[in-house]
Amino acid sequence: MTAPHTSPVIEISDLTKRYGESTTALSAVDLRVDRGEIVVLLGLSGSGKSTLLRHINGLETPTAGSVEVLGEPVSRLSGARLRGLRSRVGFIFQQFELVGELTVLENVLSGALGALRGPRLGLFSYPGALKRKALGHLDRVGLLDRAYQRADTLSGGQQQRVAIARALMQDPEVLLADEPVASLDPESSSQVMALIREIAAADGLTVVCSLHQVDLAISWADRIVGLRHGAVVLDTPADGLSRAEVMEIYGRVATPTDELEAVDRELRAGLQPRAQEEFVS
Ligand code: ADP
Repeated sequence: MTAPHTSPVIEISDLTKRYGESTTALSAVDLRVDRGEIVVLLGLSGSGKSTLLRHINGLETPTAGSVEVLGEPVSRLSGARLRGLRSRVGFIFQQFELVGELTVLENVLSGALGALRGPRLGLFSYPGALKRKALGHLDRVGLLDRAYQRADTLSGGQQQRVAIARALMQDPEVLLADEPVASLDPESSSQVMALIREIAAADGLTVVCSLHQVDLAISWADRIVGLRHGAVVLDTPADGLSRAEVMEIYGRVATPTDELEAVDRELRAGLQPRAQEEFVS
């Protein structure tokens, strides 16, 4: 008996993106993500993670190749159809992108602006049902007691949790996160990643999240897709990796610190270190 056919939530074929003559940000990338998968894009700064996420959200146009999300040809959409697709895809940014002088609740409510006509000024201007929904999401991310506080009075980890609540206001089917913990300390990073995972599991979200930390990717992803110089160099389930496989991942998609440590080890061992350019992303 054949398995039932499930159409992928994201299907990227032969995607290449060049900026000008000299920069190839993505090179013939193929990626298929099924419903409910939690995929981490792992790679050094400049490896193409952000460019790939921006193509999934229709913020970039491919130089070549195609991107389909939820059955829609993203790169060929514009106007209302593109806005319609984007409303089904939440996006979380490294720098949170909150409005610091507004309350936490207003920031969360702004995630619903796509569903409302025109801008809103002040809490009173939002329908009560939306306010209840926003408060519910704040409760989910553990910040209900901060609803009426200015967003810029919160810690980085708390601000990212507000940004998650804001993304949930769209009722997304797909959640994209671009280095969501890059500016957080390790403890807040783990909390934010755990929260994203918990919400994704509860709501059946498909998640694609970029990270540059191998350890976080291994502990958090269902599947790791490694990028190097814009090409996919690794695509593996994260669960049950052997030590050798983990070392292999470090070798293919190493963080700058790991690479510096490798240079250090080689120097200490009196070996010739690899060519300098190999250590620069
Ligand atoms: P990452 O997210 O892994 O740090 P990016 O996707 O931001 O990597 O960048 C990949 C490559 O594309 C880098 O060389 C970067 O400088 C280049 N790049 C990204 N966006 C642009 C742009 N708008 N214009 C020119 N080059 C860009």
